[in-house]
Amino acid sequence: MSKALTSSLLGMDLGEFSVLVSEAGEPAYRAKQIMEAVYRHRVESVAEIATLPQPFRERLEHSGVTLGAARIEKKFVSVDGTVRYLITFADGQSVETVWMPEGDGGEAGDGSEAGETAERLADIPGPGTSGAKAEESEPIAALKRCATQNLRSQDRHRQDRTSSGRSTICISSQVGCAVDCQFCLTALLGVKRNLTAGEIVGQVCAVLRDQRVSPPEDRINLVFMGMGEPFLNYENFVKASRLLVEGVGIAERRMTVSTAGIVPRIYDFGGESIRPKLAISLNASNDALRARLMPLNKKWNLDMLIAAAREFPLRTREWITFEYVLLAGVNDAPENAREVAELLRGMRCKVNLIALNPGPGIDFTTPSAERVTVFQNILRGAGTPAFVRRPRGRDIYAACGQLKRTVEVATSPEPQIQSISRVQQ
Ligand code: SAH
Repeated sequence: MSKALTSSLLGMDLGEFSVLVSEAGEPAYRAKQIMEAVYRHRVESVAEIATLPQPFRERLEHSGVTLGAARIEKKFVSVDGTVRYLITFADGQSVETVWMPEGDGGEAGDGSEAGETAERLADIPGPGTSGAKAEESEPIAALKRCATQNLRSQDRHRQDRTSSGRSTICISSQVGCAVDCQFCLTALLGVKRNLTAGEIVGQVCAVLRDQRVSPPEDRINLVFMGMGEPFLNYENFVKASRLLVEGVGIAERRMTVSTAGIVPRIYDFGGESIRPKLAISLNASNDALRARLMPLNKKWNLDMLIAAAREFPLRTREWITFEYVLLAGVNDAPENAREVAELLRGMRCKVNLIALNPGPGIDFTTPSAERVTVFQNILRGAGTPAFVRRPRGRDIYAACGQLKRTVEVATSPEPQIQSISRVQQ
């Protein structure tokens, strides 16, 4: 039996569906029907693919083809609306996937919403579009004001209809993680295995089904910022990104991948045709500090990382995001902020500051809000846009760096977690 006929449909692309269909002696157009059913309609079994003739469905099932589902095993709901899913795969391994309603990748308040409106407004033709920025005439300015209002009211309308206007799904790329960042709970698991492309896409399909939303009608942001290091599972991550865009219908510009700094892969990634936006976890302002917090810095140091970022081919209106986890008394001093500003000087980038989300076994503490603001203001003063990320779902251990596996948290002795979270299913 061919390999295609013993595998799961989730994770296959149109080319692979074509092979499967032709090996089964079916007409070529059936490949597209399967593609639609798996990614756009997100069926849960081969039997549900209503566009295929019944005998073909049966033949597929008898030859061992499955959908390759990612099953929601548990669901925790935060007081802030964030939902953390424990998702289990065929071999019993599990990861966590997070739904942030009306979140935007944890970047709310960082100006990205305004940026999005500006992006759309930029398409309205104005005078003097070439050369130096011309003064806007009053009618054009009025048009833009009006368009802004319309966009806002459209946004509200969508929010009303779906209550998911800017929802974000945070997905995992590996079971556990090998990178060993000292402030991250996932690191304590070590790495168990890579996820397949189907398992990566399967998380998204499961959450979209559960939340009853469907891109592109519903604007869904997607971040590869869950468990694992996407650039250490590069091929599957790239294939999954393509399937998410071409199959599921997630807009490419709404996807972001975050890497701890796998430098050779940053170069590879720059050459990909379908490509989420790039975020880099900086987390320290000099090599000594970074090597202590993120051991991978011994392999790819700041010089190498910053060089890769500077050479990264940015598209129109694109910038690189640097994430910086602030650890009280460790990397949050004004001097650290000045070093970061120096590292990033002149780069088309922004910095997202994340005050540490604490966890058991993590030997760091969260800095005060004042300390975070001082850090932010130094960056801004040096001309580097800097935003403070609002923590999401901390009470259910769904925030950045808190993903470790629901079962362990469900039996956690910490009372605030037990009392605030609601466990469903
Ligand atoms: N491996 C990838 C993606 C997962 S981590 C990466 O390193 O980028 C996603 C983000 O969460 C990273 O920016 C990381 O620095 C941050 N993070 C990890 N642990 C954290 C914690 N305890 N508190 C706040 N942010 C954390």
